[in-house]
Amino acid sequence: MLSCNPVPIEAVTPKQRRSRQAQVVWGSRVVTVGGDAPVRVQSMTNTDTVDAIGTAIQVKELAIAGSELVRITVNTPEAAQAVPYIREQLDRMGIDVPLIGDFHFNGHRLLTDYPACAQALSKYRINPGNVGKGDKHDRQFSQMIEAAVQWNKPVRIGVNWGSLDQELLADLMDTNSQRAEPWDAKQVMYEALITSALDSAARATELGLPAHQIMLSCKVSGVQDLISVYRELAKRCDYALHLGLTEAGMGTKGTVASATALSILLQEGIGDTIRVSLTPQPGESRTQEVVIASEILQALGLRSFVPSVTACPGCGRTTSTTFQVLAKQIDDYLRAQMPVWRKKYPGVEKMKVAVMGCIVNGPGESKHADIGISLPGTGEAPAAPVYIDGEKALTLRGDNIANEFHQLVETYIEKRFGSQQAAETA
Ligand code: SF4
Repeated sequence: MLSCNPVPIEAVTPKQRRSRQAQVVWGSRVVTVGGDAPVRVQSMTNTDTVDAIGTAIQVKELAIAGSELVRITVNTPEAAQAVPYIREQLDRMGIDVPLIGDFHFNGHRLLTDYPACAQALSKYRINPGNVGKGDKHDRQFSQMIEAAVQWNKPVRIGVNWGSLDQELLADLMDTNSQRAEPWDAKQVMYEALITSALDSAARATELGLPAHQIMLSCKVSGVQDLISVYRELAKRCDYALHLGLTEAGMGTKGTVASATALSILLQEGIGDTIRVSLTPQPGESRTQEVVIASEILQALGLRSFVPSVTACPGCGRTTSTTFQVLAKQIDDYLRAQMPVWRKKYPGVEKMKVAVMGCIVNGPGESKHADIGISLPGTGEAPAAPVYIDGEKALTLRGDNIANEFHQLVETYIEKRFGSQQAAETA
């Protein structure tokens, strides 16, 4: 019996913030950012940019993993000289991902002295906290913006609390001390981050950079701080925003902290590009940050990148590792195929596969998926029903269940998404 009058429960979806739309271009590749464009995945290399081949290879790996924009460090004349060569290597490999140059301290000189570098990049990241002090700050910042105007490149004004403009912070602290009720030091710091970004953007537009060529970020490493700062930044401007928890850390901690902060903001419609600043574990691929960023967007229902595999956690009913192994195999296989499947099987990235451990939730969850298997738990008959499009299609038995299910997934994809390609090209 119902204890109250139920009303239909509204499905929650992420809001959309109306930001200006920017375009990041390389050749015929145009990556739209902001406005009604999808939230973009961005990443950054950790190779020495002077090692042009090593950097080009890592950019390629990041792009294949799904990074739509890749940032590289441009910190020395040698690095600036390497940039056009990196671009050329990528073009030769057919990797048209736009490159973003990350400039600090000497960006004004590098962008002026190495025009081929300025041209080969698709966007510049400028940190207003690292462009010199006093008069020098204004002059050097102007030089970088003038380069962006000259080469028609968008700019991200990327403020970071680790390199916040100290003169601005000191000014705001002074003003704060004169308030009847001074703010917390933290609130002053939030204000300094936002003021630095907005004042720099205003200065850039005065210098002739169109507002739609400007993106902003204010990165901090605390989850609650990031949420506080971005909510306010989003309220005060309509520039496209790049979102990321800086220095998120390693492994589980970095992943969870990034996912927590980014998800809350993305759900509120805040964030047009995202990066997960993960410290790779020894031996871990740099592409992990792209995988996590993509997973965050996919989990929120904002984008689809790879077919998702629903797998139960296992429990006392699963005393073998069969289903864990199968779930991992299927997940790895689907990811590995995506660079080819993206073109061959349009729509496959929205597919759902279930690999479940026993009869308790196995059949139900498998029915919710496009194709699912419910493996036998401990004490169950050694049979694995397979569900396709919500209906029980067949039962697998014996020692070859994993391979047979693999085959069934491939056949399903070919039948369902191969025909879509035929229809689209007809
Ligand atoms: S589906 Fe079965 S094996 Fe998996 S967690 Fe639930 S009860 Fe355990």
